[in-house]
Amino acid sequence: MLSGRDLDPPDLIALLTLSVPSSKLAKAGAGLIHNGHFQTIKMLIEHGTLEQKEKYLKKLLTGEYLAATAITEPTAGSSFSNMKTTIKKKGDVYVLNGVKTLINDAAEADIMNVFTKRQEGISVFLVEKNTPELNILRKMDPIGMRSSPIYEFELKDCVVSANQLIGKVGEGLKTFFSAFNFSRLGNASAALGIARSAFEKTVAYLKQRTVGTRTAAEIQGLRWQLAEISTQLQAAQLLRNRAAFMEDQKQDINLVSSQTKLFCVEIAQRAVGDCIQATGRYGCLRDNLFDLYLRDVKVLGTAGGSLEVMKNNIARHLFR
Ligand SMILES: Cc1cc2nc3c(=O)[nH]c(=O)nc-3n(C[C@H](O)[C@H](O)[C@H](O)COP(=O)(O)OP(=O)(O)OC[C@H]3O[C@@H](n4cnc5c(N)ncnc54)[C@H](O)[C@@H]3O)c2cc1C
Repeated sequence: MLSGRDLDPPDLIALLTLSVPSSKLAKAGAGLIHNGHFQTIKMLIEHGTLEQKEKYLKKLLTGEYLAATAITEPTAGSSFSNMKTTIKKKGDVYVLNGVKTLINDAAEADIMNVFTKRQEGISVFLVEKNTPELNILRKMDPIGMRSSPIYEFELKDCVVSANQLIGKVGEGLKTFFSAFNFSRLGNASAALGIARSAFEKTVAYLKQRTVGTRTAAEIQGLRWQLAEISTQLQAAQLLRNRAAFMEDQKQDINLVSSQTKLFCVEIAQRAVGDCIQATGRYGCLRDNLFDLYLRDVKVLGTAGGSLEVMKNNIARHLFR
């Protein structure tokens, strides 16, 4: 089976153009879901100007362009409102300064939405590839989602035209939530795709693996374990589907998308671990990709908003 390890950027873009669902892409490597790409599309659809939509949307939707999202900084992660990347208005342009880190596809992306801060609040700007004041400082080495490389980069007196502002100055949180409420469903779908892959491989393996005088599939403890995983995956999928339906109906999914990401990623992390245990040596060999599933599903618990941040958001709704 093709793995995300084997894919080059042109293959990735080709995959994007096929509009393969996140759950399927994640079977080959969860990095292939390209969160930042779809977040940018969502930001443009909901907050972009007509000019921005004409300039970028078609290219992003066909995969001609790849996009990235740059929020995280060396000293601002979960608490991203502490970000230090600044903007200054100079006539018709804005000047951006700051360092962003852990940014998927920052070097490959044709366009990047960059989150900045000043007194009025957060503002989001589109920065194009080959902007001279955008310097990639280093490529980083994550444990998972490796098919989408991550980078640290600096913006040094980076001049951006006012036309590149998404939404309004100081209203970046609206832009953030429109994209991240949505992309949490992509994270959840990727987690489910990974777990389903591990589950299907495990069922197939246990059926043919002989343990003593019987197949492993006849061992009661393993049968019950797989029965539980299948039930949990089914429940998680229904939650994801309901959230996606609500999104399609243009309902507010802030709460349900946090619950969906939390539940699906936790179920998937447990399922992958249990499948490795249930398959013995088979799960321990890299050929069978369980290491890819384990590393990717772990990263999904942090990238795009950690599970703790999801819990905080859910609790905020409860105790409002
Ligand atoms: C592989 C990978 C790809 C990424 N890609 C991107 C990208 O493309 N663009 C981008 O902008 N960012 C990206 N990120 C950054 C990611 O969004 C952050 O790592 C994530 O938001 C968590 O921030 P942090 O790592 O700084 O953790 P910290 O904020 O330092 O948190 C440390 C721990 O404390 C927990 N924690 C933090 N605050 C609270 C709280 N209030 N209550 C309870 N627990 C809390 C966290 O959940 C975590 O367990 C990526 C990260 C990774 C690992």
